[in-house]
Amino acid sequence: MTNHHSLRLLFVSNPIGPLGSGLGGGVELTLRNIATELGRRGHRLTIVATQGSLDWGMLLVEIAGTPQMSAQTQGRDAPTIIPASSVLAKFWDYVRQVQTEFDLIVNFAYDWLPFYLTPFLTCPVAHLVSMGSLTTAMDEIIEQVAVKFPGTIGVHSQAQAATFTFGDRCRCVKNGIDLSLYEFCGEPEPSMGWVGRIAPEKGLEDAVAASQLTGIPLKIMGFLQHEEYWQQILRDYPDAPITYEGFLSTAELQQRLRRCRALLMTPRWVEAFGNVAIEALACGVPVIAYRRGGPAEIIEDGKTGFLVEPDSVAGLVEAMGKVNEIDRYACRQRVEEEYSTTAMGDRMEQWFYDICSRNKGFLM
Ligand code: UDP
Repeated sequence: MTNHHSLRLLFVSNPIGPLGSGLGGGVELTLRNIATELGRRGHRLTIVATQGSLDWGMLLVEIAGTPQMSAQTQGRDAPTIIPASSVLAKFWDYVRQVQTEFDLIVNFAYDWLPFYLTPFLTCPVAHLVSMGSLTTAMDEIIEQVAVKFPGTIGVHSQAQAATFTFGDRCRCVKNGIDLSLYEFCGEPEPSMGWVGRIAPEKGLEDAVAASQLTGIPLKIMGFLQHEEYWQQILRDYPDAPITYEGFLSTAELQQRLRRCRALLMTPRWVEAFGNVAIEALACGVPVIAYRRGGPAEIIEDGKTGFLVEPDSVAGLVEAMGKVNEIDRYACRQRVEEEYSTTAMGDRMEQWFYDICSRNKGFLM
């Protein structure tokens, strides 16, 4: 790919919160990893994000405004709401003004407006969709873009694509992480780990129930998004040997995660990918996950963890009992093969080149 042109890329973050806050979930790490890898490959990048975002040493345009509400908290019929002083609207106003300086805009937001605006812009837009189907309004607008601008809708897993009626029009680019930031640990402690936003769609209560039933300690790491939900879990499982470790930086997260015997992934929804699955595997930590969504495509049952019947606490408990059968080194190897920043960079870069050549007759 070295003979390819260097692209001028404008990455537009999600409008939920500043980069580094945790509010945006896996999208924050995804954006950072793609930006870092494409920058390393000689592409020129600018990131547009909410004011207060962490400085990752890349060109960052910070914009202040009212954040959007997270889409996963709304029902299927939820209307599209744009608040006063919308940071999302301001992002895209900025995009409109500077678009001629770029070859490609990359949208990381799961919001109606960027899809709606796509035909009004002269610069092509790649949309990296971070969740499965949630509302009719979003399905409609994403489908319109998928039809009008073929190849511009990217997803992280086949299962995520399958939640949309237009799933066959989506391009699966998976995801990736910087393996040098995750240290392998061959000799774990007895405890299990759970990593993610503490929010109902993540199903933390099942992991806590499994911990209470087995007496195996569970370390919980992640952004506390729903305080009420968390308090309910504490009331329902008073005897579970759990500890809340807080929302950690990647460096701290991997330090604690790598010492776990396994990671429990218990989402209620179709997880689009599940960054935490590859972060655990990178440390040599097997993953016990429900057989649904992204994790079911990442984990090889019996080799890098166990896939159990969705929503079955008994299934989790059974898998926890045989987790020592998993070769931790095989877990790390799996990430090296498929989810390194190089592997991910190849997929993303090719996707971006394909869009540019299709939309602008860009010479490769
Ligand atoms: N994460 C973190 N610190 C923590 C726990 C989690 O930075 O203490 C990050 C983790 O690295 C991952 C993200 O939170 O990138 C969760 O992403 P995932 O794709 O698993 O789920 P999402 O929140 O996007 O639904």
